[in-house]
Amino acid sequence: MKVTRRNPDQTHEVTGPKPVGELLAELEINPETVLVIHGGTLVTRDHVLPHEAEVEIRSVISGGAGPARCHGTREDGSRCRETAVIEIAWHNSAFCAACFVEHVRAQVRKAIDGHDMVSYDDTIVVAVSGGKDSLALWDVLLDMGYRVDGFYLGLGIGAYSDRSRAACEAFAAARGATLHVRDLAADFGFDVPTASRDDGRATCGVCGLSKRYAFNRVALEEGYDVMATGHNLDDEASQLLGNLLRWQTAFLSRQDVALPASQPAGNDAPTAGDGGDHSQDRGGSRRGLAKKVKPFYRLGERETAAYCLIKGIDYIVEECPLVAGNTVLRYKDALNGIEAHSPGTKAQFLFGFLDRARDAHFPAEASDAGAELVGCGECDMPTPRPSDGRPAVCAFCRTRRRMLRLVDDGPGAAGRRSA
Ligand code: SF4
Ligand SMILES: [Zn+2]
Ligand SMILES: [Zn+2]
Repeated sequence: MKVTRRNPDQTHEVTGPKPVGELLAELEINPETVLVIHGGTLVTRDHVLPHEAEVEIRSVISGGAGPARCHGTREDGSRCRETAVIEIAWHNSAFCAACFVEHVRAQVRKAIDGHDMVSYDDTIVVAVSGGKDSLALWDVLLDMGYRVDGFYLGLGIGAYSDRSRAACEAFAAARGATLHVRDLAADFGFDVPTASRDDGRATCGVCGLSKRYAFNRVALEEGYDVMATGHNLDDEASQLLGNLLRWQTAFLSRQDVALPASQPAGNDAPTAGDGGDHSQDRGGSRRGLAKKVKPFYRLGERETAAYCLIKGIDYIVEECPLVAGNTVLRYKDALNGIEAHSPGTKAQFLFGFLDRARDAHFPAEASDAGAELVGCGECDMPTPRPSDGRPAVCAFCRTRRRMLRLVDDGPGAAGRRSA
């Protein structure tokens, strides 16, 4: 059979017939990290692939006996028992396509209700990148009847950014939904690759800061009540592991799946900054920053990828070409290694922290509660007042100044100056 692996791309010729589980073992692939697609549908570990099969094994890291039967429940309360298309070890369950979609909605419902994330009166904006998590989240929230628009920021990362934007625009057009598009280079004068020429701060740090800033700004300008991101169980658990390994107590005190309006935000990117993540209601027409929520924190990457395949959402499978510098991927790998042997560990780790450990062991720092927030002198977005009496300039504007200098000094700068 012809086996194509995506992300990273490879092709293998393998002798069949053989069950999916054996094929994965032969190729030394952890089943927790991939989806297997045969004949256009997802297949489970016991599905036997014929010798002439064409099979795709799709990595989903952003970074039973006989064919499994669906564990879903029908409207009349009986067991579904259809052939399953996906197994979820940590739920000890398998689902057919229809029941899997219900499972995803049920997890989102549990997340929303458990943390008072959004109401049906709220206007929501979801940050979309063209990847599986953010497009799946937008789709689920639309299907659940919420008032939700999308926001896309062009990062200028070559063909990857072009394809990401196209995926977001195609999704918005297909669903008749509103997508706000901003562009780092056009709106702010620099792009993410510029940051790779800077030795002060990692590229992903500048990228994360810019995304948070632009997202805050759009939410504020357009008057949204809630900002939602597609951070999933793998993202949150790996972020937690990274914060614990380095004892980043300030980040641990702020790591949450729902941050109230006008409060300092958590470090939901590889390097945190304060660029507009703090706010206060300063009266007049000015609003505080919107609430931030992560309704997918109960779903793994494998589940969000499967949701997109089942719902026919055409997401960008390729990873950002700059992802190699992102340390969170190493923590995801480590957690997946443990999860393969002890399903459920990842969820216990994150949920236990959210339920019990955070407030007991990492109370909010006094500086978080007490920071007085003023308008940035350059962009007017909320930022903490400097203690030394200097004019307030937010982290994004400070970074932007440095990036604009790099743009001026960059390749071709001499020619531009002499022209
Ligand atoms: S991998 Fe880094 S540079 Fe690429 S989109 Fe993510 S944060 Fe930005
Ligand atoms: Zn079913
Ligand atoms: Zn600013």
